[in-house]
Amino acid sequence: MIQVGVNGYGTIGKRVADAVAAQPDMKLIGVAKTRPNFEAEAAVRKGYPLYAAIPERADQFRDAGIDLAGEAEDMVMTADVIVDTTPSGIGADNCELYERYDTPAILQGGEGADVADVSFNARANYDLARADDVDIARVVSCNTTGLSRLLAPLIEEYGVEKARVTLVRRGGDPGQTSRGPINDILPDPVTVPSHHGPDVNTIIPDVDIDTLGVKVPATLMHLHSVNVTLDDEPTAAEVRELLGAESRLFLVPEETGIDGTGKLKEFAMDTGRPRGDLWENCIWEDSISMEGSDLYLFQSIHQESDVIPENIDAIRALLDWEDQETSMATTDETLGVGL
Ligand code: NAD
Repeated sequence: MIQVGVNGYGTIGKRVADAVAAQPDMKLIGVAKTRPNFEAEAAVRKGYPLYAAIPERADQFRDAGIDLAGEAEDMVMTADVIVDTTPSGIGADNCELYERYDTPAILQGGEGADVADVSFNARANYDLARADDVDIARVVSCNTTGLSRLLAPLIEEYGVEKARVTLVRRGGDPGQTSRGPINDILPDPVTVPSHHGPDVNTIIPDVDIDTLGVKVPATLMHLHSVNVTLDDEPTAAEVRELLGAESRLFLVPEETGIDGTGKLKEFAMDTGRPRGDLWENCIWEDSISMEGSDLYLFQSIHQESDVIPENIDAIRALLDWEDQETSMATTDETLGVGL
């Protein structure tokens, strides 16, 4: 069993913790939190050992009636691997702690690529993280994950000459009351290209991709407007078949009446998905169109959850525990990935 600790228990951390707990070959040894807030309370109710991320704040947990299993450093010492799900920039600072105890660690997309030995996407470059000299892997952001999953099969099957993607991004997660805009549409960043294209190149170095970002008053999901110029000229039906065969790409059928991200989330909740999570890229099947060698489609990305299966696979890859196919299949089966 792989002993896994989760450092940082927010939007991504709590989902990673639940996913680890569901794996047959992993044991969640604990989660580290900075404050005794509602998420700490929920972790305790789930029976997850709770560690103080900031030792000086241990008293706050005791005052809130929450028992601690120790300090984050104790968890790092015991774990075979740490999944660091702290806010952007803090993961980089934490690497010194992981190195001190020789504990491999997985960082998230908010960290710069240069902080990690490798950037990771299970579909596109699983084997790179298996190398002996890789101790820190970075699971790329929700948007980069979604783009890498889409481009990898297109490159393998048809070749990609150029990808152009406009990312219509949610202003904040549902729980982020301080984020916006609440009544605006912002080019974000106003400069072109946005950082997403270069980030895709940390996973697929050779692909030519330009990205533009727009931020809108929404919290549920991102939406990508995608144009990929292929080397070949397949039919739209052939592209649908190719993408439909990928377990982490969900082709939204027209007959479901799902016309946007609101109904997608309703569908996820109605079908009993935990927290209404959508781990798959959601591609509108009818949007998949070919004009000569130009592919067009719309896909939505659930920012809070598409990286969760990737973190689970990154654990197995980093420890060289399983091959890509076995790991992805186990992750998909235990979580229920594949709509
Ligand atoms: P979050 O703010 O929801 O959660 C982070 C948690 O870490 C919070 O509970 C915070 O209290 C805690 N924390 C802060 N400092 C800490 C420390 N020193 N030690 C331990 N814990 C600490 O953030 P998030 O949305 O879960 O993002 C985490 C990472 O995942 C970031 O790199 C982010 O860019 C990336 N990510 C976020 C999303 C998303 O949409 N939320 C999607 C993909 C990737």
